[in-house]
Amino acid sequence: MTAKVIDGKAFAATVRGKVAVHVSRLKADHNITPGLAVVLVGEDPASQVYVRSKGKMTLEVGMKSVEHKLDIETPEADLLALIEQLNNDPEIHGILVQLPLPKHLNEDLVINSISPAKDVDGFHISNVGLLSTGQKSMVPCTPLGCLMMLRDHHGSISGMNAVVIGRSNIVGKPMAQLLLNDSCTVTIAHSRTKDLPDVVRGADIVIAAVGRPEMVPGDWIKKGATVIDVGINRVEKPEGGTRLVGDVDYASCAEVAGAITPVPGGVGPMTIACLLANTVTACSRANGLVEPEGLTA
Ligand code: NAD
Repeated sequence: MTAKVIDGKAFAATVRGKVAVHVSRLKADHNITPGLAVVLVGEDPASQVYVRSKGKMTLEVGMKSVEHKLDIETPEADLLALIEQLNNDPEIHGILVQLPLPKHLNEDLVINSISPAKDVDGFHISNVGLLSTGQKSMVPCTPLGCLMMLRDHHGSISGMNAVVIGRSNIVGKPMAQLLLNDSCTVTIAHSRTKDLPDVVRGADIVIAAVGRPEMVPGDWIKKGATVIDVGINRVEKPEGGTRLVGDVDYASCAEVAGAITPVPGGVGPMTIACLLANTVTACSRANGLVEPEGLTA
């Protein structure tokens, strides 16, 4: 069996297209332009790349993009003051603080100082609670992107066995919650899980979010299962230079899976598309307007 490749790049373009349509309606009918503020503390090269690409795509869908680049030594009080200012800015509907933060800053405190209604990353404790009780919330972008791809591929995923490998607050836990909300039977596996290969072999849906290059081989995958690879790992090429690989061994998994996301071009592009989707959703909610359809969980 050769797996169907789930083209996240193409799907993300479709999502961005839907966002752009909704943005133009908000402008034309209500004179509202959704605004996204991204805050970057320090000069981490990977974070700089993400922030640049987020800003570019925000503008491309017709939204307002504001970037705040702060010095690595920025005191916590200054960062909190900036967030408070953005919380009170009526032109800003989404606030994203790029993680990781420098060590002297308390990440939980900073994230929980963002207004939950503007928390387009979905990391605020209120949004985590709302999601876990099945209420309307802001949903973390990467798991939301994975869910959209699964729904698109399967229609309904109700009753399917899903194994999420990884239990981070950013990916693993919210992913498991979303799958549970869609009536999957969910197992969360992690670094202490006993007999991980056997756990994964029982899955109709495998979500790999570990951060270990090509850790999941094809003989862990049940024939016909859907494999969603969240991992982004840069590895050395034998001939020199580097390349990006996921957490699953693509070649061997693609031989047995029914469908698989590639790296790059799978989950990655969906994450930014979902950030834009969350911003337009937040803007619609803030103004008491109808939310765009199909852009949230
Ligand atoms: P993390 O380091 O916070 O969490 C990794 C998880 O993997 C932990 O819960 C840990 O228990 C588990 N783990 C570690 N070793 C394991 C093992 N041997 N067996 C089973 N589980 C093990 O990472 P994260 O932030 O959740 O990110 C995971 C991966 O996803 C990384 O490669 C990251 O770069 C990538 N990522 C991609 C996107 C995207 O947009 N595509 C977004 C976020 C993260």
